[in-house]
Amino acid sequence: MNEIRNISLNDLTDYCKNLKQPSYRATQIFEWLYQGQVSSFNKMTNMSKEFRCQLQADFQIGSLKTQLKSVSKDGTIKYVFVLEDKEMIETVLIPTKTRTTVCVSTQAGCKFGCRFCASGIGGWRRNLNSAEILMQVLHVKGEAEKLTKPLSHVVFMGIGEPLDNYDNLIKAIHVINDERGMNIGARRITVSTCGVIPKINKLSDLGLQIELAISLHGYDNESRNVLMPVNKKYPFDDLISACRKYIKKTNRQITFEYILIKDVTCTSQAAQELKKAFKSLICKMNLIPYNPVSEFDYETPSKNEIINFQNQLKQFNIFSTVRTPRGRDVGGACGQLRHRII
Ligand code: SF4
Repeated sequence: MNEIRNISLNDLTDYCKNLKQPSYRATQIFEWLYQGQVSSFNKMTNMSKEFRCQLQADFQIGSLKTQLKSVSKDGTIKYVFVLEDKEMIETVLIPTKTRTTVCVSTQAGCKFGCRFCASGIGGWRRNLNSAEILMQVLHVKGEAEKLTKPLSHVVFMGIGEPLDNYDNLIKAIHVINDERGMNIGARRITVSTCGVIPKINKLSDLGLQIELAISLHGYDNESRNVLMPVNKKYPFDDLISACRKYIKKTNRQITFEYILIKDVTCTSQAAQELKKAFKSLICKMNLIPYNPVSEFDYETPSKNEIINFQNQLKQFNIFSTVRTPRGRDVGGACGQLRHRII
């Protein structure tokens, strides 16, 4: 049956009009779904019983089945959800002193196979529809309200490449951002991409005020070829050029995510190459110490090595922060999410 959370507000408005209902009914439905978080049309009590029955006949309100919930000692919570076709995805709730963030998956599996990330190991199964993306946010939003502070930030950094599922991603972002939907400010929504250049260009045309994060992870073309197969299609220099264009067009800063792997990406040579690549580019870097994945042999650099690398970047006027690993003990940290339980 038609999942109602796959329907945009515009399409809901058309649906209501076809049934000779006032167009504000669509807004009411939207508010019940995304603010009231109701699980049944019967609970939409400001609408007639007949109309609720009609909704029930035409749509379903789905929910995610929680297969596993793992709580890290740092308070991070990882959820394994089972979808209707039995595919599995993972979603993470990350509470900190200043914010509560949900890390959302956009695909079941991932076809991009980055050589440090567990999400690509089993390959790609399918795209998530916008309802499946939204249900992750809604589920965690409900949990956050019970457990910690209300949900404040949404990051698309879970399983899958968000821009490879562009239409469903954008549809979901509109609902998350809409004040009649979840009403989370655009600047609190981050989309991370491994560097799908045509979609970065497309995103820049939309005029959304969201944050864009580029998973760079290599310091030049060769190092990125080794770590990220996508670089063979969209090479390092072309990606940096696309980022420059994006910044010019949107007037928004970009964050570059950069994995710190001992003796691979956390070296003086890497810092020197980044200096060349980022010449006159206003950006920030998020340095992510490698989170162990059993299938890969890499090592996390020591604290000193990380500090030295960051200091070198600082000398080159490259601003960076080091991401504190969250949820590592439950396989919930960056690069550790999988689409099946091991
Ligand atoms: S880093 Fe992102 S794009 Fe690369 S394999 Fe992992 S989920 Fe896919």
